[in-house]
Amino acid sequence: MMQLESMYQEIILDHYRRPLHAGLREPFDAQVHHVNPTCGDEVTLRVTLKDADGEAAVADVSYEALGCSISQASVSIMTDLIIGKPVSEAMEVSAEFLRLMQSRGEAEPDEDKLGDAVVFEGVSKYPARIKCALLGWMAWKDATARALAGAGASGDFKAEEQR
Ligand code: ZN
Repeated sequence: MMQLESMYQEIILDHYRRPLHAGLREPFDAQVHHVNPTCGDEVTLRVTLKDADGEAAVADVSYEALGCSISQASVSIMTDLIIGKPVSEAMEVSAEFLRLMQSRGEAEPDEDKLGDAVVFEGVSKYPARIKCALLGWMAWKDATARALAGAGASGDFKAEEQR
């Protein structure tokens, strides 16, 4: 178990140092900005959807994340898991991740569904860190709901200039 945890730690640090799909890209259907005030984590996240045989699918998720290694690694792993999937399937992955985070370390994570996201298994034992791991996923769900509703970018952040 110790070995597994240090391997998980390694994967988290790897995503933190070299985040996948990072940066804010155009075009996008919706953008949100979520904050985890308990830790100071922030993420600005954009979702682009596409039509795949009449079903909405995740064309792209781009983001700019600030904060702790858990929050940043989590959004990196999430984007790698869900880009290209139908939205319905990505929502299932997201629900599975939420279940894992609420398990207090008791869950048997579904590795087929969660892929690298199983590395956050240990985080579920630390209530203060759960919000860190969930930040990107909550932002994605929010942005996707807006995109599906055709709501587009939230007014607050339209004016925000990208560096
Ligand atoms: Zn954090």
